[in-house]
Amino acid sequence: MATIFTKIINGEIPSYKVAEDDNYYAFLDINPLAKGHTLVVPKKEVDYMFDLDDETLAGLNIFAKKIAKAIEKAVPCKRIGTTVIGLEVPHAHLHLIPINGINDMNFEKPKLKLSDEEFKQILADIHKYL
Ligand code: AMP
Repeated sequence: MATIFTKIINGEIPSYKVAEDDNYYAFLDINPLAKGHTLVVPKKEVDYMFDLDDETLAGLNIFAKKIAKAIEKAVPCKRIGTTVIGLEVPHAHLHLIPINGINDMNFEKPKLKLSDEEFKQILADIHKYL
């Protein structure tokens, strides 16, 4: 069965799309740790990041780099933290999170509740730099 991220990539489930190319898709995390928290996924459906073939793994990071550069311009922060967890959705993905300190990467913190308008505004801010 297709993962929820494959359904997002195929447009069967809506997302706040940050960017896509032939092989990768980036969208705002719906339960963000910070404004601008973005997920970057390969379109190829593979559960575990380190089961990706080398080319896809390298390409994911190169694609994520330009997204991270845009997020850091759009959202005030010290830098973009990256992490891979993957315990919830079995489709490899990289978290890009604007951070000012180590605690901003704590996934046990309560997530932000953002309105549709807030998500759209963040998206518009990031798109200015892509
Ligand atoms: P993990 O697999 O542990 O890295 O967590 C999956 C992440 O995907 C969580 O941060 C969720 O908030 C996020 N997520 C799950 N469903 C959606 C969705 N439909 N749109 C955007 N983000 C999602």
